Order: sequence, then structure tokens, then C-alpha cells
Amino acid sequence: MAGKSVKLVGRDGFLAAELTYVERVSWKSKLYEKEVPTRFDHRLVRAERRDNRVVGIFVNELTQKEIELFCDQLVVEHGTIPEDEVFQGLRAASINDGVTDIDALLAGSAQISSGRRQEARFELHRIGDAVASRNIQSAVLDAFRLCRML
Ligand SMILES: Cc1cc2nc3c(=O)[nH]c(=O)nc-3n(C[C@H](O)[C@H](O)[C@H](O)COP(=O)(O)OP(=O)(O)OC[C@H]3O[C@@H](n4cnc5c(N)ncnc54)[C@H](O)[C@@H]3O)c2cc1C
Repeated sequence: MAGKSVKLVGRDGFLAAELTYVERVSWKSKLYEKEVPTRFDHRLVRAERRDNRVVGIFVNELTQKEIELFCDQLVVEHGTIPEDEVFQGLRAASINDGVTDIDALLAGSAQISSGRRQEARFELHRIGDAVASRNIQSAVLDAFRLCRML
């Protein structure tokens, strides 16, 4: 955004709190290079239009004090949605309609044959990022818990 100033506000105490030290240093370097001012420990609670501008109202996580920051544009990064297009597309053709038997999963038993469509040729289970955007370990663990009983 040429000619525009940008400010980064974050709820965590510092940038990229969930990343590793090495990755954090890399992102911090980029912010310093671009001279982006930052303000951490502040949570967005609402946004309003005022005098043809947008005002973001933030609460300090430690003091609970509210501050208002005026801007032309407020960009909010707030989580992700699951990547489940393929899963949803296959549900109707699967034996189990994509429903995992949680009791069987916890008991370490096979997921089998309690499904509605016995004429179908495959079971379908939702794992990994199809459930929620997480990490490799979660996807592998989801798969392992299902597949160890095959
Ligand atoms: C930029 C980035 C960095 C990341 N860094 C890390 C990290 O450092 N450590 C970590 O643990 N996690 C990291 N993650 C998260 C991690 O990559 C995911 O959580 C993990 O890969 C999820 O595994 P998955 O098997 O559920 O999905 P995916 O790994 O996305 O596998 C899904 C596969 O299905 C294939 N596919 C999709 N549609 C079709 C179709 N119609 N037909 C056939 N195949 C299809 C895709 O090509 C893909 O190969 C990162 C993610 C991103 C985006």
C-alpha cells in the first residue's frame, strides 16, 4: 500500500508467538525492515464507523483498558476454516456418510459396518486439516488412530 501507513496490533505478548524461535526472528526482521509499528497484548473487541473512518476498539489483555485506533481499513486475521471440500464431496458415496465412530476409535476397535450404505465401497473419515487447520503431527495422529486397526 504505497503512501499508506500500516500498524500491526496483536493479542499475544509478541509477534508469531506460536512459531519457533527461528521463524519468529525471520518475521520480526521483516517487520523491522518495513518499519511497521506494532502494539501487542491488545485484543480487538469491536469496530465502528466514525467520521468516514473505521475505529478499532481494543482491550489491553493485562489492564483491561480500552483504546481506540482510527484507520481507513481494518484487516482482521481471525483463524481459518477447514479444508473439507473433498470430504464433503465424498460423503454421500461412503458407507458411513463420513461419520467416525468415536467410541470405536477410543476403544481402539475397527470402524466397520455400522454405516448406512452397505452397498457403498469405502468408509470415509475426516482427519488432519479437513477437521481444522493444525499441524503435521495432528494429521498423522488422526490417521494413525484410524489405520492401526485396519
Ligand atoms: C505454509 C505452511 C507452513 C506449515 N508449516 C508447518 C510446520 O512447520 N509444521 C507443521 O507441523 N505443520 C505445518 N503446516 C501445517 C501442515 O502442513 C498441515 O497441518 C498438514 O499438512 C495437514 O495434513 P493433511 O494430510 O490433513 O493435509 P495435506 O497435507 O494438505 O494433504 C492433503 C493432500 O490431498 C491432496 N488433494 C487435495 N484435493 C485432492 C483431490 N481432489 N484429489 C486428490 N488429492 C487431493 C493435496 O494435494 C494434498 O497432497 C504448515 C502449513 C502451511 C500452509
